[in-house]
Amino acid sequence: MSAPVPSVLFDNHGRPLEYLRLAVTDRCNLRCFYCMPEEGIQYLPKQQLLTYEEMERLVAVMAGLGVRKVRLTGGEPFVRRDLVPFMSRLSTIPGIEELTMTTNGVLTAPHVPELARMGVKAVNLSLDTMDRARFASITRRDELPRVMDTFYALLAAGIRVKINAVVMDGQNIQDILPLAELTRDLPVDVRFIEEMPFNGGSHAATLPWNHNRIRQHLELNLGELTPVATRPGDTASHYTVAGHQGRLGIIAAYSRTFCGTCNRIRLTAEGGLKTCLYDQGVLDIRALLRGGASDADLVAALISAFRNRAANGFEAEQQRPLHQLSFESMSTIGG
Ligand code: SAM
Ligand code: SF4
Repeated sequence: MSAPVPSVLFDNHGRPLEYLRLAVTDRCNLRCFYCMPEEGIQYLPKQQLLTYEEMERLVAVMAGLGVRKVRLTGGEPFVRRDLVPFMSRLSTIPGIEELTMTTNGVLTAPHVPELARMGVKAVNLSLDTMDRARFASITRRDELPRVMDTFYALLAAGIRVKINAVVMDGQNIQDILPLAELTRDLPVDVRFIEEMPFNGGSHAATLPWNHNRIRQHLELNLGELTPVATRPGDTASHYTVAGHQGRLGIIAAYSRTFCGTCNRIRLTAEGGLKTCLYDQGVLDIRALLRGGASDADLVAALISAFRNRAANGFEAEQQRPLHQLSFESMSTIGG
């Protein structure tokens, strides 16, 4: 007789599995320099990507193990064809209470009404600067106007906007305050992210701007930042500022201060399961799916992977058998 399936799966460090980050593609219409090199990117052949049917099956299986929240990411989710009908189907899977996405916003605006209709409550929008020339230099594409259209379309549709801004020394430090100022009159979250070294080898990442320095810079210029109580699993430390409608956030993505309550797993576009952002993939789900695994086989493999998690991102990094972090691009991991 097979072991009973837990309704909530806890890892070997007592953390529940609640949140799946699903990379639906490794392709992208931008070339953010902190994420990938400008040229020479080897995209996966289409047949190596999980199909929508395979992803739907996996989400249903994971919902049975306690996953309640799914975030679509990539690459850029909207470069994959027929994304919206796929999302619509995901939104009806029993147990999935929250469906959301991280997008660069270039192709998103026309789909916003549909997102609102299917019940998407919040979207993470990546925006490192509102200066058109710097945007073009950071992303290597002149697409700021379309991203801003998405920003305003989301606000108009009543979808909560969480801006993700990667803080890069020598690139967008002058943009920290203008982005933070958006929170004064708009009910948005603006979250500043430490740069991580997952850039596909495009440059060596250092961390002159860590979470402490970002916070000091914000406080020096905006006044006191009052911490908001975090929920288990939150990666961002959130703050309010007197007189501001929205909130500020800081994500210590490289300092890894939040691993203690991490409740997430990641699936890469080719079906690699990661139980930590910093591991190199712990299970080839695509091979299981295409090798004829039953749902019970998938459940058993997922349970085994989740019950053998590294304690934190440092341990996961140490356990990587092969190459350095910087050889990977965040576009294959999904952020
Ligand atoms: N293309 C979508 C986008 O940019 O929003 C989704 C995928 S992207 C890989 C997910 C998130 O990872 C984005 O917010 C992006 O800014 C962030 N990201 C990418 N590379 C990063 C890096 N090296 N360090 C920190 N954050 C990074
Ligand atoms: Fe594309 Fe997102 Fe990576 Fe930028 S961060 S290159 S938008 S996947």
